[in-house]
Amino acid sequence: MPRAAPRSLLLATRNAGKVREMRAALAGLAIDVSSLAELGSRVVLPEAGRTYAENAAAKARVAAETTRLAALADDSGLEVDDLGGEPGVHTARYFGADLSDAEKVARLLARLEGLPPERRAARFRCLIALAWPRGEGGGEAAAPGRVELFEGVCEGVLATEARGAGGFGFDPVFIPAGESLTFAQLPPERKAAISHRARALAKVRAFLAGRPAGDRPPGQGKSAAGTA
Ligand code: IMP
Repeated sequence: MPRAAPRSLLLATRNAGKVREMRAALAGLAIDVSSLAELGSRVVLPEAGRTYAENAAAKARVAAETTRLAALADDSGLEVDDLGGEPGVHTARYFGADLSDAEKVARLLARLEGLPPERRAARFRCLIALAWPRGEGGGEAAAPGRVELFEGVCEGVLATEARGAGGFGFDPVFIPAGESLTFAQLPPERKAAISHRARALAKVRAFLAGRPAGDRPPGQGKSAAGTA
């Protein structure tokens, strides 16, 4: 366990699907993992930043300050090439904030209607922030509100119709590269091996397990102290 690894970690998200995926990815580490729902926390997570990194860092910081626990927060989105990379950081509210996942999927499919397979490329991107409460951070107490960032990307194409009942969000229309089934059709273990969140979480896990930075892909696990 590295100097900076916390004993307790809060998953700062209210998305049950994300909690499930994060908890599974961190299983087996000697860290006590809890969620906002389990703590009964009513903290409001900010999401007004212009980038995934800003949003993830802000959410993790607010959760860490409010609960005095190290906190993990993610911000993710779907980037559709034919929409110029949109909805991207706006994915959660792009098609309408109060719509169900199924309605959002239907709106995306309508926007892309008639688009041939070769123009349906898309990717999920996930930024995960790990924040310590002010004055903590594994002996780096001098760095207030320290935050580490981890990124994961999953390339794929968008199906022409919703398929499958697993997962959440846009899983029923996202076919990851190298697969013929959507994320919602694939077994959860498969999504947990290849998704954007899984890739970012693997880097979080390596960081928490104290593996040297060289074990992580270059450019990841950046310290973002004092930014966002
Ligand atoms: P946020 O990260 O909470 O801002 O939400 C981003 C949005 O992107 C979610 O509400 C989902 O619609 C979508 N999204 C993010 N990750 C996934 C995923 O793993 N599967 C399906 N949709 C996702």
